[in-house]
Amino acid sequence: MASAFGTACDRCGRSLHRRDLEAHLHVCPDCRHHWRLGAAARLRTLLDDGSWREHDAELVSTDPLSFNDRRAYADRLTDAMAVTGLRDAAIAATGAIGGVAVEVVAMDHRFLGGTLGMVLGEKVVRASDRARAARRPLLLVCASSGARIMEGALSLMQMAKIGVALGQLDRDGIPHLALLTDPTTGGVVSACAMGADLILAEPEAQIGFAPPATIRQTIGRPLPDGFQRSEYLLDHGLIDLVVDRRELRDVLGRLLGLITDSATAPDPRPAQPTASDADKRPTE
Ligand SMILES: [Zn+2]
Repeated sequence: MASAFGTACDRCGRSLHRRDLEAHLHVCPDCRHHWRLGAAARLRTLLDDGSWREHDAELVSTDPLSFNDRRAYADRLTDAMAVTGLRDAAIAATGAIGGVAVEVVAMDHRFLGGTLGMVLGEKVVRASDRARAARRPLLLVCASSGARIMEGALSLMQMAKIGVALGQLDRDGIPHLALLTDPTTGGVVSACAMGADLILAEPEAQIGFAPPATIRQTIGRPLPDGFQRSEYLLDHGLIDLVVDRRELRDVLGRLLGLITDSATAPDPRPAQPTASDADKRPTE
């Protein structure tokens, strides 16, 4: 039960004052349960001095299909903006971790489930292009339930668009890191996460392309304990590290220090056109 002063741990029930929760980066000091973090809180916990320069904050969805199911998509967007203070499901920023400059896109699950629509896709592509231009690593902090169905095929296209941009990043030898947080599911798993050079995850995060119920029905068998959790993926070689949030900044700083010395040296090869050069379609 949350209040203005504190909350109780979802798992062990311990009462935590809001100040203590923030001091522990929203991790329960007793049972290590990791609360979900919004994009701004995520950047404050990860980046040196908690500071960053935001990019593309003005991008908003145009509701291209005038989509309406039980509620109008336009109304859902308005509500999500009011709840989060964001204009879509991610913050794109330039900052530093352990003194290494990085381009970051941090997703926010509170904004329509962190779903991948035109704005999030465009923010990832532009961040990737900035990483290529400046020859600095790209870190994608994933927290998403997958495609934004209210944008139909335009949402699904974002996976291909991101794939092209990250492929160019890979060809230029610029590191792409993914940090998977609870939950990272659907198209974001394939588009943003599994092709990364280094894949880190927070403890017990749900990570998987298809929902467990769908897989269970398809294979007609019960799923193993811990299926689609970070530790299960680590045991099966799908990710590289599971890291407690309170150690993430140090671990990422060390990793970035190790991999950037050679990767960020000037590239002797001629520059190639960026993904956004080929796709200047406005997003707002
Ligand atoms: Zn707890």
